Amino acid sequence: MSKKSDQVVKVLERIKPRWPLPTPVKDLNLLEHGMLAVLLRHFDQRKAEAAIAALKKGYADWNEMRVAQTQEVAAQMLGLGRRAPRSDVDPVLAAARDVREFLQEVFQKTHGLELEFLREDLSASSKLVQQMPHLGLASGGFLLWLAGDRQLPVHAAMVRVLDRLGLVTRAGLAKKARDVVGPLVPEGSELRFVQILGEVADRWCDTRKPVCWDCPLREDCPFGKKVAQEHKVQLERMEAQRKRDEAKRLVFEKKEAEKRKKEAERLAKKAAIDNAKLEKSRARQAAIDAKKRALEDAKQKKQAELAKKRALAEKAKADAAKKAAIKAKSAAKKQAKSGKKR
Ligand code: SF4
Repeated sequence: MSKKSDQVVKVLERIKPRWPLPTPVKDLNLLEHGMLAVLLRHFDQRKAEAAIAALKKGYADWNEMRVAQTQEVAAQMLGLGRRAPRSDVDPVLAAARDVREFLQEVFQKTHGLELEFLREDLSASSKLVQQMPHLGLASGGFLLWLAGDRQLPVHAAMVRVLDRLGLVTRAGLAKKARDVVGPLVPEGSELRFVQILGEVADRWCDTRKPVCWDCPLREDCPFGKKVAQEHKVQLERMEAQRKRDEAKRLVFEKKEAEKRKKEAERLAKKAAIDNAKLEKSRARQAAIDAKKRALEDAKQKKQAELAKKRALAEKAKADAAKKAAIKAKSAAKKQAKSGKKR
């Protein structure tokens, strides 16, 4: 066994597929095998086959199912007719949604609901399958394997993964891809090889943005090591930048706190000065008011004294007039008496 074949064996051992692939069923066409692959994400093979049989019975054609409500598809899948309470269909709703979305994806990509044409041109078919993310490349590879009479299908995503792993070189591979890839695959593991490579392409090995740091193959993948290293450097840079930003933020916050403290002190000082001024002005005003009141009191006292004096003078004047009148009366009496004597 060559070193590359050893590496392929390691790859097949290291990747655990999320879902099993179906066992091909004699009476199902390629579209229905696609549905079976999708349903195996929720059920075992026996239940998935039973679900397809029930759906076939429930709908006149697949287009009728494609445009039906998910709840109805779920009810049909369980053989409950078109209407069933939500609680009865809840356990299979996710499967119904998935299989309906698969039909929708096929319809959008092919404007029809059959995939038998995949058998005609495997190269074009592999391109189409790569544009069906809901189906995915693991299940899509299974359909290509069926379409090509169980020969190893080689698609661009598979070549991309193998190239990055250092197992093939992409340059000039397009036409004779199967001749180059075929010898790497352990005999009898073709379908598993297709599934695992599809799984890697679907989950980690994206054309533009591979997530090598999460990929289980990165230790043995030259491209992945490079990307993972770059990612690590990028993370370190981001962390360093984050620390710089944090330090800047702390300095800024410290400055702002100092600024706020100074401003508070300035305002407190100003308030104290304003208060003192206000107190001083109030005291000055109180002194002026007191002085005014004292002057007013003195004036009133003086006026009272003057009035008293004036009253005393009036009284003295009246007393003098009274005395003069008494005196005049007495003089007149004396004069009258003296006139009588004569
Ligand atoms: S490590 Fe990266 S490049 Fe290598 S197979 Fe995984 S995702 Fe692809």
